[in-house]
Amino acid sequence: MLNHPRTGQPFASPVPPGTGWPGDPATPDTPQAPDAARVLQLAGQVESIPELDALISVCRACPRLVSWREEVAVTKRKSFADQPYWGRPVPGWGSPKPKIVVVGLAPAANGANRTGRMFTGDRSGDQLYAALHRAGLVNQPTSVDAADGLQTDTIRIIAPVRCAPPGNSPTTVERNTCAPWIDAEWRLIAPHVRVIVALGGFAWQIALRVATDQPPKPKPKFGHGALAELGPTSRLLGCYHPSQQNMFTGRLTPAMLDDIFGRAAELAGLSG
Ligand code: SF4
Repeated sequence: MLNHPRTGQPFASPVPPGTGWPGDPATPDTPQAPDAARVLQLAGQVESIPELDALISVCRACPRLVSWREEVAVTKRKSFADQPYWGRPVPGWGSPKPKIVVVGLAPAANGANRTGRMFTGDRSGDQLYAALHRAGLVNQPTSVDAADGLQTDTIRIIAPVRCAPPGNSPTTVERNTCAPWIDAEWRLIAPHVRVIVALGGFAWQIALRVATDQPPKPKPKFGHGALAELGPTSRLLGCYHPSQQNMFTGRLTPAMLDDIFGRAAELAGLSG
């Protein structure tokens, strides 16, 4: 057992459901999906975001990803060797009634897989949350751990794969197995959403699939700043992924992130 870096409470790694980890949506009784068929069934029945978050957070449907996320949680990166790791799937984070949805890819092995919150505890998240704060969409510029007080009324961050994959690369089967979770999330939040921000080309494709019965024709192409109409009330906005590589090479800059999230806030009727 190691102590949580903020609360000081001791936890095993991975964290058993319902043992007091900050923001843990599950209890020891939350049903654990053991395979793709059960994911489909549970996701099809879910009726609220808290219920969905709980179900996702204990899912065990992808054997390779379950082993990897738990192995990383035990072995840990050297710099985090004194911390407990969440080591479970990472549910969406933010408002259950968001006006803006940010679509990422999958949790980072030593970021969200450690802290239990989307984009929290890695360099991509540092850039993302700082930009969200500058745009007035979250209450603080940093996202360090799941007990740091970060809040939002307006955005939600979601992903098409909820477990950290080896080499940041889930297989097609794993993507398909996880898809019912994001479909259920979209069903529950869609009435509130005005803008989807897709972080990268893959997230763009996911957003088109999830948010439209039939993608507009011709199919809108991803680009940084590209805008697609998804229906009378919602739009899709492209943004390069704030990966370490993109930020380090200058392909994406903080000013470019500010443009995107300023625009998203404006399109969602949140600015001015
Ligand atoms: S990737 Fe998705 S479906 Fe697979 S184990 Fe994780 S949460 Fe479950």
